[in-house]
Amino acid sequence: MNHQTRISVIIPMYNEAEVIAETYRRLTDVMRSTNESYELLFVNDGGVDRSPEIIRDLALRDKSVKLIDFSRNFGHQVAVTAGMDYAEGDAVVIIDADLQDPPELIPDMLDKWREGYDVVYAQRVKRKGETLFKKWSAALFYRVLRASTEVPIPVDTGDFRLIDRKVCDEMNRLGERNPFVRGLVSWTGFRQTAIEYERDERLAGETKYLLKKMIKLCLDGLTSFSHKPLKLAGYAGGIMSAAGFAYMLYAVAMALFTDNTIRGWTSTVCLMLIFNGFTLIMLGVIGEYIGRIYDEVKGRPLYIVRETLNTRRVPARQTN
Ligand code: UDP
Ligand code: MG
Repeated sequence: MNHQTRISVIIPMYNEAEVIAETYRRLTDVMRSTNESYELLFVNDGGVDRSPEIIRDLALRDKSVKLIDFSRNFGHQVAVTAGMDYAEGDAVVIIDADLQDPPELIPDMLDKWREGYDVVYAQRVKRKGETLFKKWSAALFYRVLRASTEVPIPVDTGDFRLIDRKVCDEMNRLGERNPFVRGLVSWTGFRQTAIEYERDERLAGETKYLLKKMIKLCLDGLTSFSHKPLKLAGYAGGIMSAAGFAYMLYAVAMALFTDNTIRGWTSTVCLMLIFNGFTLIMLGVIGEYIGRIYDEVKGRPLYIVRETLNTRRVPARQTN
């Protein structure tokens, strides 16, 4: 391990050619002002634009610029995980490539770290320039997650944070196939604190988190930190059985004591629709868990690296 490097900054990027040079510039200004030695670990998550070339050019002039180039798109959370595998610093900062997370906050994070905190996460008090749908869905997601898990995962907090070397080492031991980084960091425990910030607009380009990726992130968070969705089937099944039993008594009583028994079509259809719908939803929930169990069992590597520049995986911390 290179003991020279104090701070590692992980920047996952997926087709961010429009912003990445500016991101480099702002990060470099901030990191130089801290007077600490640092590395900028750019993880190219299988993007197909010029971003890796831009980083390569920068790396020729600046040895603190490092590149991990994936063989294809493995997803943002995996890119962050790879960054943690390669990071050498005593403190590791995770930041988005699109400058929505202001690099100027890093010195404040470092101050908290020096005070003795092992995790300093940045909590969004405001999000600018994002659609109402994104804001509401994100707010709802963090609250559902909080309500359904025992791990205190802070609300309105993305992956923009600083973690201490010991937290990073613990993260690297996990080797989960569908990692939900912000939850796993909370799960490791240690001394955690927040700093608040206003989330800026994306500097340029479009969001890379389309609905499909947002849904995957939600489901990864929920399934890896809560069994409540599975238990829901039990509770709802119990309630429905009780209601069904009551209705059965009513139906039998009607058959025995009245002659109105033919007129049952509407109720039959309604019950069938409700119960079949519910059964299919619960099968889907179970499927989400089983798919993830299957991913773990297959034990494939989490990501494949095509090429690295100025860096190599820290061997002592290789995941299984
Ligand atoms: N990203 C990535 N892989 C992906 C999608 C996104 O590495 O498959 C990166 C992206 O380049 C950015 C960060 O993850 O640095 C957050 O993505 P984005 O800004 O598009 O998400 P949003 O801020 O809109 O939620
Ligand atoms: Mg963004």
